[in-house]
Amino acid sequence: MGDWQEGSWTWHLIWRRALYDWEIEDISNLKGHIEQKKPSRDLEDGVVWRHTGNLSYPVKSITATLCEQSTPTLPKAISYVVWQKFIPPRAQLYVWLANLEKLNTGDFLVEKGIIEAQRALCPLCNLQTESNSHVLFSCTISWRVWMNMLEWWGISGALQNQCRRFCLEWLGLVKNRKYRKLWGLIQGCVIWSLWYQRNKIKFENGDPNANNFIYSLKIRIGIWAKEMMGFPGWSSDDVTYNINSLLFLM
Ligand SMILES: [Zn+2]
Repeated sequence: MGDWQEGSWTWHLIWRRALYDWEIEDISNLKGHIEQKKPSRDLEDGVVWRHTGNLSYPVKSITATLCEQSTPTLPKAISYVVWQKFIPPRAQLYVWLANLEKLNTGDFLVEKGIIEAQRALCPLCNLQTESNSHVLFSCTISWRVWMNMLEWWGISGALQNQCRRFCLEWLGLVKNRKYRKLWGLIQGCVIWSLWYQRNKIKFENGDPNANNFIYSLKIRIGIWAKEMMGFPGWSSDDVTYNINSLLFLM
């Protein structure tokens, strides 16, 4: 591995087999890297966490350093909605996957050779190939659901049908900081409920009626708002009425 020559360490790398041509560059990089690390005879080995300037290495500092060095996977506003307890844990994973365009939709399963192309139709409309953005946004049924949500809250705006861009624009529609959390909750609830509805129809012969879906979605938004944000005095029976009364506050 190496030896001391005139007081300084020299690396000797020996390989068990002849190197392939495509490995030469990697070896050269490795040598360049380890040449900078020279052991010292007078110092004792130890472990030092460089980012706190002393010998301690708290987990908090490690997390902060890793976050600083990594490229965020999702825009901050979306990560905030997904991970800051706006929505129940059972929905967080699916909303996160949706934003990464990683849901197991028909197009993905065809690409992986798991199903035939004719079985990849969107379960909501049965007309087009199902993709992440289609089933959650551009499908006529999904789009109708989103537009119904805007109408319900008396908000208007232009939205795109690609998941991440849609979510960012949706969050930008409500400027009042006080109600952004509720607005984020609605976004998460609609995404999760559309995916849940899609699975119900596809695997359990669920009710495909869009009006029934929208009605139950509004009830779910009310229940989630009560669960996650603790709005007082909301029972399942009057939850829709109470949500409507919030319109005046937005
Ligand atoms: Zn569709």
